[in-house]
Amino acid sequence: MKNEESTTVCDICGQPGARVRHVSEAHGSGADMLVIDHIPMVSCPHCGESYFTAETLREIENLKRNRHSLAVERPVEVLSYH
Ligand SMILES: [Zn+2]
Repeated sequence: MKNEESTTVCDICGQPGARVRHVSEAHGSGADMLVIDHIPMVSCPHCGESYFTAETLREIENLKRNRHSLAVERPVEVLSYH
């Protein structure tokens, strides 16, 4: 079993040791509300930034485009990042 928490080099300040956490994000609102689970978010203890990498943002856009074929049946549509 791999530990859920891993570290990476920070895109912002370039220092190693930035933590990767997995978060849920809600997009849109009302009937259009979409929740995406388990998105990797980088939190850097050096510069204090929390952000999604460009690759992650691209993947989120892909998921949102495909939401109707990928979403599981729940009161709110929920997608897993992976
Ligand atoms: Zn940083």
